[in-house]
Amino acid sequence: MKLEDNIRKVIPYVAGEQPKDKNIIKINTNECPYPPAPGVQRLIEGLSYADLRLYPDPNVSALTEALAKRYGVDSDRVFVGVGSDDVLNVAFVTYFNSGKPILFPDVTYSFYDVWADLYGIPYKTVPLKDDWSLDVDAFCNAGEVGGIIFPNPNAPTGLAAGLSDIEKIVKAHPECVVIVDEAYVDFGAESALSLIDKYENLVVVQTFSKSRAMAGLRVGYAISNRKLIKYLEDVKFSINSYTMNRPSIELGVEAVRDEEYFRSILKRIIATREKTKNALRELGFSFPDSSANFIFASHDRIPASGIFEYLKSKGIYVRYWNKPRINNCLRITIGTDEQMDKFIETLKEMPGMQ
Ligand SMILES: *Cc1c(COP(=O)(O)O)cnc(C)c1O
Repeated sequence: MKLEDNIRKVIPYVAGEQPKDKNIIKINTNECPYPPAPGVQRLIEGLSYADLRLYPDPNVSALTEALAKRYGVDSDRVFVGVGSDDVLNVAFVTYFNSGKPILFPDVTYSFYDVWADLYGIPYKTVPLKDDWSLDVDAFCNAGEVGGIIFPNPNAPTGLAAGLSDIEKIVKAHPECVVIVDEAYVDFGAESALSLIDKYENLVVVQTFSKSRAMAGLRVGYAISNRKLIKYLEDVKFSINSYTMNRPSIELGVEAVRDEEYFRSILKRIIATREKTKNALRELGFSFPDSSANFIFASHDRIPASGIFEYLKSKGIYVRYWNKPRINNCLRITIGTDEQMDKFIETLKEMPGMQ
């Protein structure tokens, strides 16, 4: 027996680059280009340094209650985690435990297969249709499965599925939990939260990282029925009781409170997205019509890898995956108007672009 044989070997998720240079136009990881709500800054200045010696509230009650109030549900129907990646991780362990394959789209958030492999959960991918839309019939007619997860809007395509399509999938699979990962829902899709009273197998997951401008704070949450949330809590308390730190809980509460600021940054990002779509079209790009804070674009002549390298050399970071089906696409996060103007100007100067 070798030492090596005792060790779990995994192929990890690869996060987008986080360059140190502040001059880089960083439109590669779908962060919000605007700061969090102004009340968050005031609160940071007033945080108690002495309280850091104390453990945080293991139940994260203040933030759970703030979210419950915001979404109009009882607080025992909300589970808060350290970013939605933490929530999804706990959800995979908790809900996908049957030994039967779980389903997710072939082109989707690239963490799902990583968690499935880590926990030995079998899975099958359901190819997106040629227009990048979710193949709803294929999900519905898949027979008995161990679970289903997909983002809405999907990532990295940005394309949203309608509520009636989501309902069809949830309804077709009462035998398993269906997780709708709504990381980008605030930018223009319809949330499946309106279905959580109707179906006992539905879990909706959202995050502060994109639309609430707080990727650095690490807050995500799941909303479902009491029973499914309790199962998540039980697993969380079997791994680590104190996942959320004190400042994140306090600052998170403040971020949920400021609805007006939240609406105002969404409006700005959506306006910039629509402007960027037009500019990209004029330059010969095509893309599925995004309802998220990014655009998944291919050029009609120039390979994506070349555009990616060119932009990088000019200090503009977008996301590119050398993977089947998507290796001619760039995922471009919506930044400020100024950043997107610079991005478009830089593209125009690329040799061969016009
Ligand atoms: C960004 C993202 C997440 C994770 O976000 P957190 O920062 O961990 O909250 C989850 N799902 C999708 C589809 C995402 O794009």
